[in-house]
Amino acid sequence: MSNVLVTGGAGYIGSHACKALKAAGFTPVTYDNLVTGWKDSVKFGPFEQGELSDRSRLDAVFAQYQPVAVMHFAALSQVGEAMSEPGRYWRNNVEGSLTLIEAATAAGCLNFVFSSTCATYGEHDNVVLDEGTPQEPLNAYGASKRAVEDILRDFGAAYGLKSVIFRYFNVAGADPEGEVGEHHRPETHLIPVMLEAIDGKRPALTINGTDYDTPDGTCIRDYVHVMDLVDAHVLGLKWLQDGKESRVFNLGTGKGFSVREVIDASGAVTNREVPYSEGPRRAGDATKLVSGSTRAAAELGWTPDRSTMPQMIADAWRWHQNGHYEG
Ligand code: UDP
Repeated sequence: MSNVLVTGGAGYIGSHACKALKAAGFTPVTYDNLVTGWKDSVKFGPFEQGELSDRSRLDAVFAQYQPVAVMHFAALSQVGEAMSEPGRYWRNNVEGSLTLIEAATAAGCLNFVFSSTCATYGEHDNVVLDEGTPQEPLNAYGASKRAVEDILRDFGAAYGLKSVIFRYFNVAGADPEGEVGEHHRPETHLIPVMLEAIDGKRPALTINGTDYDTPDGTCIRDYVHVMDLVDAHVLGLKWLQDGKESRVFNLGTGKGFSVREVIDASGAVTNREVPYSEGPRRAGDATKLVSGSTRAAAELGWTPDRSTMPQMIADAWRWHQNGHYEG
């Protein structure tokens, strides 16, 4: 069986990726420091606890498992936190990734799938966001991810490292079979925060700004189901194993939803009131982030058919009600 090293495999997206990898016949080896991840979510292959910054530990893991590829999810990923603690983002996301990339290259593991983000694009009025759009991030989260993209390109030129870079739009939903789901502590992402408010686990959702230049004044995002997202990663891995060139792919559906539209959809799916209040803008937020690319569909054959808003909310709601991690 082929091993794939999955950094962040105990986290939200990484744990779903491990499930998809196992279903596709790979053995996912989770490498995670459990700072934001959950040991309970490592269900589909071996677990190695470690830091990205620990080169000797990484070398030992590469030597033990001889992975055919790396899928690199481990990162700090909150826009608000990135604005207030940029140093942590640069150190963890860039320095940590650099150490990992050096270890992979030294071990001769030259296939690398990387979680990047639409936050690398920044604010572009009336521009279709495709893979050629200039990357002008508004926050240290996006900037740190852009820097890792640059490192991957340089290592590609110097050492033949092949990469598939996925620029995610907003990831939502959960495994419909309920084995893994989204669980951040504290939770900051829109849909889970909203479900916690609906369920009385927090007093209300605060809308971060209602004076944006959008039809209803709230930010617009493109939401993609986590199961569709991780399917793309398996396709990206096969792309690399087929010997194809390094490539960047947006992962979004091309449909934008405002915060108010997500609130309305959540109320409809759960048949419950969404308690919310209106607050100020969150620093670092772009007005609108919607993918304008069909590259992943055309070249990878990716079909994000679970990524409808009602389905994403229904799957997240089911997980919210039934799933949990003990720690
Ligand atoms: N958002 C909000 N209230 C919240 C959480 C998020 O209004 O409690 C907004 C946020 O400002 C952004 C959108 O919802 O416009 C999506 O935010 P999220 O943090 O889920 O993802 P991001 O776009 O930062 O990756």
